[in-house]
Amino acid sequence: MRYAASLDENNHLLISKLGTVYVNFHRPLEGKVKQVTIKRQGNHWFAIFSVEKHVNETVDFPVPSTGIDVGIQTFAVLSDGTKVENPRFLLKEEKKLSHMKKGSNNWKKQLQKVQQLHIKVANQRRDFFHKQSYRLSKTYEFVFVEDLNIRKMVKNRHLAKAIHDAGWGAFRNMLEYKCKNNGGKLVRMKPHYTSQDCSGCKKRVKKSLSVRTHVCKSCGTILDRDHNAAINIEKAGLDLLGLCPTA
Ligand SMILES: [Zn+2]
Repeated sequence: MRYAASLDENNHLLISKLGTVYVNFHRPLEGKVKQVTIKRQGNHWFAIFSVEKHVNETVDFPVPSTGIDVGIQTFAVLSDGTKVENPRFLLKEEKKLSHMKKGSNNWKKQLQKVQQLHIKVANQRRDFFHKQSYRLSKTYEFVFVEDLNIRKMVKNRHLAKAIHDAGWGAFRNMLEYKCKNNGGKLVRMKPHYTSQDCSGCKKRVKKSLSVRTHVCKSCGTILDRDHNAAINIEKAGLDLLGLCPTA
């Protein structure tokens, strides 16, 4: 039996007359999908994609490059100042739970609700990551990010939790393969005083993590801390590749 099928940017495969299923890719899809074969093995269903690939296909990117800094209050900040908000879907219901008497009937009901929500939230988060990474991979040819050592950060529990919650690692991997698929490139940069140095004049302006604004007395640059960092990441990336900033 043959059905028409299409795949959207959130990795949902729409099969005519059958409906929509989420596809968990074992490796990135490269090229244009020509045919999908659905196969069943035990309890698992597999979708096999036949793709057509053009060599030397030129892709037009609206913007040559960007730098991304992992935010804490916001999910990420781009070097043009755009903020990607944190996907904190759970907070509201979890807060309610914390206000209830532990062990009470209401608490038990709420706990069950929260547990069910965890599953829903995992799906929402995955969709959010897919949408954001898809958009970024279509906009920028080069995406520069810091190669953060998440393990080192575990020392600081609050920071570690925030990064864990936001799922930065999973997002970065998704973004990396989407960029590659689209003909662009995600470049991981070694962190180097990214949040300390001034993006305007390169002067080092030391600040603790709680200082959210970068204020440079030398050149007068005043920027959100993460925005300043994102500009530095992009500049360092362009330097590394020997490219000149266009803006
Ligand atoms: Zn400065």
